[in-house]
Amino acid sequence: MGKESIVIVGGGIVGIFSALYLKKKYSKVVLVDKGILGGLLNSYNENGTMFDFGTHIPMDVMNLEIDKILFDSISEENWEIFNDLKVANYFLGKLDTNTVYPDLRKFDEQVFYNSFHQLLVANGFDMNNDVNLKDYYSSKFGELISENVYRKIIYKFTGKNLEELHYKNSRLFDINRIVVGENTLTKKLKQIPEYDDVIAEVKYDTTNSIRKMYYPKNNKGIGLWIDNLRNKLLQSEVIIKEYNSLAAIENIDSQVKKIVLEDGEVIHTNHLVWSLPTSLLMKALRVNNNKEKRIEFRKTLLINYQFDRDFLVESHYINCLDNKFKSFRITLYPNLTQTLKEKEIFNCTIELFLDNSEEMSDIYYEVVAEELLKMGVISVNHRVINRSFSVIGNGFPILNRKFMDEETERREFIENNYKNIVLVGKANIENFFMRDSLLDTYHQINKL
Ligand SMILES: Cc1cc2nc3c(=O)[nH]c(=O)nc-3n(C[C@H](O)[C@H](O)[C@H](O)COP(=O)(O)OP(=O)(O)OC[C@H]3O[C@@H](n4cnc5c(N)ncnc54)[C@H](O)[C@@H]3O)c2cc1C
Repeated sequence: MGKESIVIVGGGIVGIFSALYLKKKYSKVVLVDKGILGGLLNSYNENGTMFDFGTHIPMDVMNLEIDKILFDSISEENWEIFNDLKVANYFLGKLDTNTVYPDLRKFDEQVFYNSFHQLLVANGFDMNNDVNLKDYYSSKFGELISENVYRKIIYKFTGKNLEELHYKNSRLFDINRIVVGENTLTKKLKQIPEYDDVIAEVKYDTTNSIRKMYYPKNNKGIGLWIDNLRNKLLQSEVIIKEYNSLAAIENIDSQVKKIVLEDGEVIHTNHLVWSLPTSLLMKALRVNNNKEKRIEFRKTLLINYQFDRDFLVESHYINCLDNKFKSFRITLYPNLTQTLKEKEIFNCTIELFLDNSEEMSDIYYEVVAEELLKMGVISVNHRVINRSFSVIGNGFPILNRKFMDEETERREFIENNYKNIVLVGKANIENFFMRDSLLDTYHQINKL
């Protein structure tokens, strides 16, 4: 092990993984978080029931080193380990428990045939930084699907029109395929690579997948994963600094030398791993950054209910794509672990988006419960035993074109001017999902 030290800023899953991985190479690893470790992967207790910050079902990254670090402490005694993810979507007034993707056949016959024809003759997407989301969807699916399906879904999710968004915004939501027909037709079409990328199987089937997914048993919430990893960090002698922000970064000759924490502590370091948005790093480096102040996030509200009886569907989660409904994603915890059913805990979380001017109001409890009823998730006999809500500060980012251009400039500036800073996680905002972010992090920190 080398004698060098390293500071990692941001203690979400990306920072935690980086610390555990780098501890094999560096004698001193310091992990700094302004709050508690875990970021969006913490759980919270409401009247004795655990709720997560949205759906977070960890799954193998399919990289042996990463998976060993993150999942080797998971045991069957305390965890559900499965590979058959049960997903659903609600679109144009109908629940489909086979897939997360919208089904074109829900439109009337004429719209279906015209849209399907356009999809078959679409040019395909030519990757180019200047492309907005409108060009992206119409080149992949044709004009009709772009307008009738994606414009409405994206407006619901982001509050923006397709033209205002960078095409990479498409990566933040699992909607980039569409169901067009029954199994035989789908299979034939999917043999053609350009259709494989846009057409979805009628049934989202992961039963034969070797990728394992994990969820805690016994009402522990996904925060159990973070508790396990915290123990691992402590055993590895990673130094954890929670509730501690950075006051300043001091550098000499394009090399970060010292990190000053808000409590005045000075940490000498050879490297800095940065897992937060680049604009925060520019601020800490005191670089004059007269670009847009910060990234815009979609205000995300989590509504939690505990019901008196089990749900009517078996899905792990349902993505509500219907723009007439406020709900976005509905996580049905007892379907993730039978142990909740045994304890008669029937709880769910509904993620929904608010405009910046909107605040949580009791009306949303009624609206969302009504939507669950209309979707067929609960019956008229279901009674709410408890309800609560929580707001996510930095939820889904809104990637507009101006921001993405500025982000590229910031990254280039940092990479060209600071030799010992590595940008991971949210410093590379287009990697939103855990798997993408962890894989990217692995590649970045291996450059050290
Ligand atoms: C509502 C929602 C649902 C999601 N669902 C899924 C899903 O189903 N599947 C999936 O793969 N991904 C999902 N994601 C994305 C997933 O949450 C992220 O990929 C993952 O949490 C990213 O981890 P991270 O470490 O980069 O960031 P975070 O989890 O955000 O952690 C960042 C950490 O940095 C700390 N921090 C912030 N500012 C500072 C500062 N100035 N100084 C020091 N520390 C600071 C924070 O306290 C936090 O602990 C979802 C995200 C949201 C918002």
